[in-house]
Amino acid sequence: MICLGVESTAHTFSIGLVRELKDKIEIIANEKDVFTTEKGGMIPNEVAEHHKRVCDDVLKKALTKANIKLNEIDVISWSQGPGLDPALLAGRDFAVKLAKESNKPLLGVNHCVSHLEIGRTTGAKDPVLLYASGANTQIIAYEAGKYRIFGETLDQGIGNILDSFGRYMGLGFPAGPKIEQLAKNGKNLIELPYNVKGMDVNFGGILTKCKQLFDKKLDVSDICYSLQETIFAMLVEVSERAMAHTGKDELVLGGGVACNSRLKEMCRIMCEERGAKYFCPENQFLVDNGGMIAFLGLIEYKAGVKTDTNILPHWRTDQVNVTWR
Ligand code: AMP
Ligand code: MG
Repeated sequence: MICLGVESTAHTFSIGLVRELKDKIEIIANEKDVFTTEKGGMIPNEVAEHHKRVCDDVLKKALTKANIKLNEIDVISWSQGPGLDPALLAGRDFAVKLAKESNKPLLGVNHCVSHLEIGRTTGAKDPVLLYASGANTQIIAYEAGKYRIFGETLDQGIGNILDSFGRYMGLGFPAGPKIEQLAKNGKNLIELPYNVKGMDVNFGGILTKCKQLFDKKLDVSDICYSLQETIFAMLVEVSERAMAHTGKDELVLGGGVACNSRLKEMCRIMCEERGAKYFCPENQFLVDNGGMIAFLGLIEYKAGVKTDTNILPHWRTDQVNVTWR
């Protein structure tokens, strides 16, 4: 069985293809085109225009990569939410058209849950997931039929904070990888607000402080270094507490910010120190990607899940009934 997945919740338009072999699901293509800017951030309508412009090309690339034809596909899945309305609509329209043309069943999946499920391909059985992406920052674990959110950001996602600070410095979008490079030259740790409230975090005050330090012309590398150390430590603290409370001894990383080698290192050290196992998928499956949408699509389709074709921009992780586990 082959499933084609369409991802379009934010900056990335991507198509993934997965094939089920006996007891294993193999990802046979994961092609994407990412909206970027030299200056400024993401404007939702411009992002949607980008997706409409590149969708046919990305599809072609994915089919070529997997060396299959459209009629060999058994089912199509798409990212139904959460995400930016115009971006979601662009992906939805593309997926609906494709399903009609090829006469294949269509299934909407939750974007955040797909970040979780793809993480389990690393070998983790029942992990706590640290999901650190552009718009979402959540610490999640499976309990009694749902992926429960044990902690989350009370304001913006951690990636958005990095991107906002980057935009303020004139770095363009996405800024996370550029901040990571700058941080490598940082030497002095500047004290920033450290905002953990119970199991939740917030970043707004930290961003304001960093902007003020930038205006005061403090060393940019030192600010980036201090920003990373502070906000990553907050996530590691809450993840560790979630592991302690749930008694789970595995941690999986997900989301684009998990591409950051310092965040990976901090999580690995925390796991080592408490005798837990650390897992992190390849970077291509951390950022938004169609592969994870196809992967979850196939699992849900086999479990008999059916959906409508309405976009769900505010669909939360813990609203999904996990009937396939
Ligand atoms: P996602 O929304 O999961 O696709 O992730 C996109 C976010 O990840 C953006 O906010 C990027 O700035 C951020 N990001 C990507 N690579 C890195 C990195 N190496 N370090 C920090 N943030 C990153
Ligand atoms: Mg994402």
